[in-house]
Amino acid sequence: MKDKLNITPLGGVGQIGSNCTLVQSEDENILIDCGILFPYEDFFDINYLIPDLREVEHKISKIIITHGHEDHIGAIHHYIEKFPEAEIYAPLFAKKLIENKLDYKSLSKKIKPLNNKIEFGAAAITPIHVNHSIPDTKGLMITHDKLDTAVLFISDFKVDLNSPYEAPINLDLIKVFFK
Ligand SMILES: [Zn+2]
Repeated sequence: MKDKLNITPLGGVGQIGSNCTLVQSEDENILIDCGILFPYEDFFDINYLIPDLREVEHKISKIIITHGHEDHIGAIHHYIEKFPEAEIYAPLFAKKLIENKLDYKSLSKKIKPLNNKIEFGAAAITPIHVNHSIPDTKGLMITHDKLDTAVLFISDFKVDLNSPYEAPINLDLIKVFFK
């Protein structure tokens, strides 16, 4: 099959909430984040919205979480139901929040720590530490061996070189990909 790297937002673009992005290589389909959209005042009797997963007809091999805010992890149980075979990766802080959420719903699913490069076919995602209003947030560098390309995907972030509780954003690692 032809080499490809497709990136399609399913939620979170043009709205605050229900963050979800489909990333496709020629071999695998993965999702980034699975958030909810909080209700507006004209939502009558609706608790929250999630992206329309009926649009995702592909087999999903991995779900990668960038950080632990509800608009990025709030719909995780719906995704586990829809894609039971998908491996889930999350930064440690988000991993704990997701595990609490799954405990509460009596669901069991292994959440793997998001530390290192994850490959999917000729494509790969490298987590990059960024600052945000919640600890342990990752930006994702999406690369493809055969397409000689690098896409920096960051959901929410700030540049805080003097954070009192964690390391500053890893600008050095970002630079490596654009030399
Ligand atoms: Zn956030």
